[in-house]
Amino acid sequence: MATVAPQAYRNYVNGAWVDARSGETMPSINPATGETLGRVPKSGAEDAQAAIAAARAAFEKWRKVPAPRRAEILYRAAVELVRQKEDLARLMTQEMGKVLAETRGDVQEAIDMTYFIAGEGRRLHGYTTPSEMPHKAAYCLRVPVGVVGVITPWNFPMAIPSWKIIPALLCGNTVVFKPATDTPLVGVRFAQILNDAGLPPGVLNVLTGSGGKVGNAIVEHPDVAIISFTGSTEIGLAMAEKCARLGKRVSLEMGGKNAAIVMDDADLDLATDALIWSAFGTSGQRCTACSRIITQRGVRKELTDRLVARAKSLRLGDGLDPKTEVGPVVSQAQLESIHGYVDVGKKEGARVLVGGAPAREGALARGYFYAPTIFDNVTPGMRVEQEEIFGPVTDIIEAKDLDDAVRILNGVQYGLSASIFTRDVNKAMRAIDDIFTGIVYVNHGTIGAEVHLPFGGTKNTGNGHREGGIQALDVFSEWKAVYIDYSGRLQRAQIDKE
Ligand code: NAP
Repeated sequence: MATVAPQAYRNYVNGAWVDARSGETMPSINPATGETLGRVPKSGAEDAQAAIAAARAAFEKWRKVPAPRRAEILYRAAVELVRQKEDLARLMTQEMGKVLAETRGDVQEAIDMTYFIAGEGRRLHGYTTPSEMPHKAAYCLRVPVGVVGVITPWNFPMAIPSWKIIPALLCGNTVVFKPATDTPLVGVRFAQILNDAGLPPGVLNVLTGSGGKVGNAIVEHPDVAIISFTGSTEIGLAMAEKCARLGKRVSLEMGGKNAAIVMDDADLDLATDALIWSAFGTSGQRCTACSRIITQRGVRKELTDRLVARAKSLRLGDGLDPKTEVGPVVSQAQLESIHGYVDVGKKEGARVLVGGAPAREGALARGYFYAPTIFDNVTPGMRVEQEEIFGPVTDIIEAKDLDDAVRILNGVQYGLSASIFTRDVNKAMRAIDDIFTGIVYVNHGTIGAEVHLPFGGTKNTGNGHREGGIQALDVFSEWKAVYIDYSGRLQRAQIDKE
């Protein structure tokens, strides 16, 4: 059953490893060293058409495979992911930069998601309900939708594709997957493991290439029924406009400007550990990264001093080195964008307490490293307080009290993740009531979602859908209501009332 191993890193279309029709390729680069890890097809619209045609053809058979049987294939894939976990994590660290402990976590999240959703193969619950008429049965069930286009970012190269591909397949859809240009190798390996587990040809296709070309071709193709996208708000909202014109469903997970509130009564040891992890883990390149620390005056100085000392001591380096705490950012473009924001912050009057520049000492000069950066004197409304920087940069903002802190926290266009540190249960519960984000943590940083809860955000972070949890199934299924009249006569709903 094993497919040809993709050392050449090809596309996988209709059960075969193929090059782009154009024959063109593009490199995948290690951001810690600048080395080329491999080359992948630079796919275009023709490749998208072939993959979508294969997925469309495969859908008619796949949708009829009973869901528990579909799930058995996913379970087999999960077992294989466990077996290859270390190898996949090492590849991911090389391709994307984050440290091994985190890439192991990324693969583990895909494993968890696969086991969790495969379990739904024996549920996929609808419900039965009484009819308003005698001798009439009424129930509803989920049905698959068709071909799903999956378009993902580079920061979680396996976890995020798994949040989309696994529920899409379990529900009986077929998939055309385009991983990010910065992390195509992990995307191809993930698709290979799923296919080797026994998916029929055409059920899961993978195409590497740029968003503007092959990604856009997937979005615009009339035979793609659903687009499931994670990435920037700018690209996501533009995609939503196109999908609206085409009348197709689009699920968007987009940017964030997440904040943690630290109240005067907080446990500062805990808050410091959690905030360093939330702000600088994955070099700040998590959609849930903590990029604003909203602190009450009473603990502001003590907390700031502790955070600065810890940020200074973080060890930057190649993520494969077990001593490394912070890896590189993903690309030169990302490095420049982060540094541009640091300049903006300084011009706005924010003060750099630590970091504020690319890190270029010794071996760091070969890669894209940015020193963990903390801004002080940040006030609500500054660009560095409002806009997603997506790098190892966080702000200190002072708040008068809980209401003021929540107002500042909510005062951005995004609504993904938030947290509060307090020992007062009343304050914690009021914060949960008033914070308008998709995820709220108490006495924990802003990162660390689990797959069996809904994941996603409010406002410009999303468009009302959720990944994770059983809510993920809603994106990838239609509801069908069924009425079976066994009275043997015409009974008219709402009209034939006794
Ligand atoms: P991005 O630039 O928006 O790209 C995301 C994906 O969309 C990539 O595969 C990209 O391809 C593709 N794409 C770009 N332009 C396209 C187009 N015109 N048509 C179709 N596809 C297109 O985002 P990113 O820089 O990879 O990721 C960082 C962003 O993701 C941040 O804003 C972060 O907050 C967000 N994110 C959100 C969540 C969440 O759950 N809310 C989770 C993780 C990340 P290329 O790679 O070829 O450009």
